[in-house]
Amino acid sequence: MSDFSAQDDRVVTPDFREEDNGEVTLRPSHLDDFIGQRAVRENLRVFIEAARGRGDALDHVLFFGPPGLGKTTLAQIVAREMGVGFRATSGPVIARAGDLAAILTNLQPRDVLFIDEIHRLSPAVEEVLYPAMEDFHLDLIIGEGPAARSVRIDLPPFTLVGATTRSGLITTPLRERFGIPLRLQFYEPDELELIVSRGARVLDMKLTAEGAAEIARRSRGTPRVAGRLLRRVRDFAAVAGVEEVAAVQADSALKRMDVDERGLDAMDRRYMRCMADNYGGGPVGVETMAAALSEQRDVLEEVIEPYLIQQGLVQRTPRGRVLTRGGFTYLGLDVPRNLEQLDFLGDETGNGGGAA
Ligand code: ADP
Repeated sequence: MSDFSAQDDRVVTPDFREEDNGEVTLRPSHLDDFIGQRAVRENLRVFIEAARGRGDALDHVLFFGPPGLGKTTLAQIVAREMGVGFRATSGPVIARAGDLAAILTNLQPRDVLFIDEIHRLSPAVEEVLYPAMEDFHLDLIIGEGPAARSVRIDLPPFTLVGATTRSGLITTPLRERFGIPLRLQFYEPDELELIVSRGARVLDMKLTAEGAAEIARRSRGTPRVAGRLLRRVRDFAAVAGVEEVAAVQADSALKRMDVDERGLDAMDRRYMRCMADNYGGGPVGVETMAAALSEQRDVLEEVIEPYLIQQGLVQRTPRGRVLTRGGFTYLGLDVPRNLEQLDFLGDETGNGGGAA
């Protein structure tokens, strides 16, 4: 999502921002240092051990989940735990089949190739990827017209690690070629607290347990946001000459960044208010919401809605988005008597497939 939108100004956006370059230092490098996502971690541990035991490349891995939850970090950890090289690229960057061929032919045996935003590969590139993933070879067409001929190039066995924020957009043939599909979830507050405390240690910053909890609670279940808020709080503390950051200082710094007790900011409130004021709380289609807010539909679906849905403030229903009782209460509005509510929560990770 490189196009400009109000997202670029948000301190709580889970998307990567320029200021996050510093997060590299906060990246855990071993499976044992990786906090949370227990099921994913345990699965990976077993598969990595088995592959290492056999001396094989690890089966291809696909990570699903909202931005900032640790997909890239886990891909790097996989390479490190396997003791192999790591190469990273992303779907939109690989423009032509030849670009992919160049990357694949340069891999060493058992290397990890990480492709971020894999749902954005072009169909032509995806075609080349299928035999590469399945039998480790490339079928390339060289030349044009009557002189064109097909050549087959053998590849070293490698592991493709794909990441996508939109499970609904990945094609079935591609999805089926991943032996290990893993879904990442939003983090629990106590896990984020550990991540924040660890981050503070790495940054050499004095932070009390309550201070860490305060930052964790407002991080939208997302380590990237936690890291960013931590670095911002550190800046506020440094300017104010605070030695050790406790809950009070963290709280006041976060308030000044307009991040409330639940991690919601002006953009979230604008989204919910629009739904309440203009559409009686819904149901309203996502396209309509996107137009009303001058935001891209993708931004609403991948960045704004997942956390609001997870918090139970908004629901995705077959007829469109609705504001829940909790949503109305959050805004300080009366809950309409005829409010349409579903008994179940929508797809809580907010991945694709939802109703328009
Ligand atoms: P994604 O690829 O899913 O967008 P990243 O792997 O880039 O997310 O993670 C964003 C940042 O969050 C990382 O640089 C790292 O600092 C931090 N992070 C992610 N997961 C964890 C974790 N489980 N423990 C500690 N830090 C984490």
